[in-house]
Amino acid sequence: MDISVKAPAKINLTLDVLHKRPDGYHDLEMVMTTVDLADRIDLTETTGGIRLQSTSGFVPFDDRNLAYRAAVLVKERFGITKGIHILIHKRIPVAAGLAGGSADAAATLRGLNTMWNLGLSMEELAELGLALGSDVPFCVRGGTAIARGRGEQLTPLPTPPPCWVVLAKPPHGVSTAEVFQALKMEKVTSHPNLEGMLHALENQDFNQMCDQLGNVLENVTLEAYPKVRFLKERMATFGANGVLMSGSGPTVFGLVNKESVARRVVNGLRGFCRQVYAVRMLGGLEEGSIE
Ligand code: ATP
Repeated sequence: MDISVKAPAKINLTLDVLHKRPDGYHDLEMVMTTVDLADRIDLTETTGGIRLQSTSGFVPFDDRNLAYRAAVLVKERFGITKGIHILIHKRIPVAAGLAGGSADAAATLRGLNTMWNLGLSMEELAELGLALGSDVPFCVRGGTAIARGRGEQLTPLPTPPPCWVVLAKPPHGVSTAEVFQALKMEKVTSHPNLEGMLHALENQDFNQMCDQLGNVLENVTLEAYPKVRFLKERMATFGANGVLMSGSGPTVFGLVNKESVARRVVNGLRGFCRQVYAVRMLGGLEEGSIE
């Protein structure tokens, strides 16, 4: 049986770091939402072992790959002796702050749950996924949610107002671990207004959603990579209504409520950045489907 699973990227509408925990992780509070920029994972059952292929040379091809590790986890946990071939059609830029690896892991978990009739609920899959990475539980469920703790405590939120998301990925990747290491909590003077963002989502208020975007990791990455600041400024100049860096970066996104403006922003940015995309905000609509 072959299964094809969609693995959408996420953006952070807000990202707040509350404090550093004794176990080394940070306690986070984030509003995350899925966007229609997705990898596709094709799963084919084989007689033994795990084989991985990807259309991108930028991802690891061994047990460092999160989709591969998801398959190892499922096989070990449920004593499955059958093998699996995983083909990753990569569209999400790698090491970009868009949770591409986590999305692939989550899609693999969902696909194997169906393929091998494991009968796991979304909650159980999300719990399993936490062992693979902090963003995996969110990616298992998709939609729009507040993520707290390491990212595993999820509270579903209303789907954001329909809009376009323009994404610009500078040529370099960013290591999430390094950004967290460079973050000095005493230097964080302003935090995102979670209540304000929740109000915007409840009221389907596009302008308020744009006003309430905030990410405490942004300054850390902006200081290290001036190109990110430059792209933010350009995006606003070309007409995006709200602009923010996603996750630990370096991808910058702009929210736009008209397709014509999204096209103008994309065309304007193309002179400065090779990887530019205009996609729809999904945030609850048909993401993560198994085809
Ligand atoms: P994070 O969830 O840490 O914010 P990110 O979105 O910034 O991650 P990813 O694209 O997930 O970035 O890549 C982070 C690292 O994970 C890269 O160094 C990459 O080599 C590794 N990785 C492992 N598996 C995958 C995968 N299936 N797709 C992309 N990257 C992967």
